[in-house]
Amino acid sequence: MSFDEEIDLEVVDKSKEWAEFLSKKYKAEIRTIGREFPYKRSLIINYETLQKFGRSGVRLADELINYPNKVFAEVRDAIRAHNLLARTDAHDIIQKMNIRFINLPRRTLVRDIRSDQMNTFVSVEGIVRKITEVRPRIIQAIFRCPDGHMTLREQGYGRFIEPERCGVADCTQKRLELIVLRSTFVDAQKIRIQETPEGLRGGEQPQILDIDVVDDLTGLAAPGDRVVINGVLHSIQRVTGGTKSTTFDIYLECNSIEFGEKEFEEVNITEEDEQEILALSQDPNLYRKIAHSIAPTIYGNEDVKEAISLQLFSGIAKEMPDGSTLRGDIHILLVGDPGIAKSQLLRYVVKLSPRGIYTSGKSATSAGLTAAAVKDEFGDGRWTLEAGALVLADMGVACVDEMDKMQKEDRSSLHEAMEQQTISIAKAGITSTLKSRCALLGAANPKLGRFDEYVGISEQINMPPSLLSRFDLIFIMADVPESRRDEAIAQHILKAHAVGELIMQHKRNPIEGVNEEYIQRELAPVTPEIDPVMFRKYIAYAKRNAFPIITQEAKDALVAYYTKLRDLASPEKPVPVTARQLEAIVRLAEASARIRLSKTIDRDDAVRVIRIVDNCLRKVAYDPKTGTFDIDKITTGFSKHSRDLIRSIKETVRILGDEHGTARVDEVINLLADKGFSRDTIEKQIDALLRGGEALSPRNGLIKLI
Ligand code: ADP
Ligand code: MG
Repeated sequence: MSFDEEIDLEVVDKSKEWAEFLSKKYKAEIRTIGREFPYKRSLIINYETLQKFGRSGVRLADELINYPNKVFAEVRDAIRAHNLLARTDAHDIIQKMNIRFINLPRRTLVRDIRSDQMNTFVSVEGIVRKITEVRPRIIQAIFRCPDGHMTLREQGYGRFIEPERCGVADCTQKRLELIVLRSTFVDAQKIRIQETPEGLRGGEQPQILDIDVVDDLTGLAAPGDRVVINGVLHSIQRVTGGTKSTTFDIYLECNSIEFGEKEFEEVNITEEDEQEILALSQDPNLYRKIAHSIAPTIYGNEDVKEAISLQLFSGIAKEMPDGSTLRGDIHILLVGDPGIAKSQLLRYVVKLSPRGIYTSGKSATSAGLTAAAVKDEFGDGRWTLEAGALVLADMGVACVDEMDKMQKEDRSSLHEAMEQQTISIAKAGITSTLKSRCALLGAANPKLGRFDEYVGISEQINMPPSLLSRFDLIFIMADVPESRRDEAIAQHILKAHAVGELIMQHKRNPIEGVNEEYIQRELAPVTPEIDPVMFRKYIAYAKRNAFPIITQEAKDALVAYYTKLRDLASPEKPVPVTARQLEAIVRLAEASARIRLSKTIDRDDAVRVIRIVDNCLRKVAYDPKTGTFDIDKITTGFSKHSRDLIRSIKETVRILGDEHGTARVDEVINLLADKGFSRDTIEKQIDALLRGGEALSPRNGLIKLI
């Protein structure tokens, strides 16, 4: 047998093998394409089905991985040779139809892609970070020379290739013209995916991969989608400033996209895990254990940790029959002095939440917290839609540090993102609604370094009241020196550092008398009671399985609390709380019941969350002057009392001012003190007016309005 014959034989065999497989498993699908082309033009082959198709199936499946382009051609050959389309004019359709493979058993991580995988078929998992508009791309360019000869050039991804001269033999023409009307185009889109947060080992930057998508796969993926992309890896030479580099960039020529389910599929719970989870749910100290498993190296802050545990379990997102949805995610804001462990808490929550993302308000990407439509080099002149943190954290927790420093655009788009949990973008050719079904844990530092209880929160952290009111809980973490507590914190911090030092030294030179048991004992105060891996599983299990219903007793307790707060209102006093607070309490109560994996929301849950909410409101909405709650402190930034005082100060300055409007501060204070305001608060409020730029002091002891 000659060499030539051997190759021929193999080709015939392959075609036969494919034909056998296709006519057994995909006959109907191929016939449909034959009938409905071009509306249906992709044959989607399940890789697993192929692999299970006897010995030949295994071989064909292996071939796809190593020689994908050869396989696509062989499949076409098989369809053609055995007339599987059952059409006489099949040739053209077979050339144009797509052969797609899905459901590959092995996935490659973006960061593990290496040069030996070039031109092989791979399966990569990630979150869609950016998409461009869908625009036509030329794939077969037809050129005409001045003599009227036509020359065809196939085009690929990237640079446009022009022939140097007319393709017709003997013709010497070099000035060729592209004939758009006779050229062939395909819809094309570029997508950028980034690694899923679960795949990252603490604190690593996610890596990205660019995907080239064409034809009927365009326009399917949206930023924030979890996808598995199957396709052929290619390299493309880098060009910097017109010079070709020896370094190549990689991109994936997309063959198929699989959309992942978003909820916790990545958390794998075994039967033993389930037993452990169910046992833990019966633990009488469950709530304490859970709160103590959040950032155990951070001392105190019990109230914040308790609230965060509710946030991790979240309320129940409800879909009503009319299509409307009620948010279940709980948003929490930590406002406080620097160095009080806000950032530490946020970082720990990312570790615990099955879909946590940590970002800073002054984030570097143009998409910021929500999303942005931009025209950048990624899109080669096309508009690009890029997902921000809240979209990438869809179905998880977005931890946003330094919220006071966020961009203006973010501040306005956060309103929709937090309440409706969608982000709408309408700019240039892009109109899109992205999902942001995540809980937000924000941290903010007061503008002037320290929290000032006489100035509204809104003003201090540079966030409009409308946005503040969307947080279910706001914690003020003030760094007030208090000797007993301070000592306890100091002891706690030193304990953590000391045992850390011990471990490090012991590693280098074993210390006598120190063994594993000793270290475990020393570590106990800073070891979480529930191990983080188990904790994540517990959360995932509860969110999957626990959908408690509110009992009458719990309902009564919640309504009673709400009406008690509302009753604080009078014509004199402003609206004490709004329906938003009631919704917040309901969500928190649902989360509280979920922690126990309970089927019902009981009175105890209601009592627990009323205590938490009450403590919070006491700090943020309690007006120390009048001794009442006043939600205006959040929503307008000033309590009624301090609004009254500010108005009075301004009035007094106007009355007492000379022709330039300048008044003496001591006279202003005296007059207001006579009206019943305390000197201390008047001074503070005048200070605040001066600092806030509403008034200025031309000379010491003088004040003038601006
Ligand atoms: P913030 O973000 O509030 O400005 P950080 O989270 O950066 O503060 O915390 C500053 C440091 O102080 C961290 O190393 C943290 O561990 C420590 N720290 C602050 N408060 C506590 C506490 N209550 N217990 C233990 N460590 C604390
Ligand atoms: Mg910080």
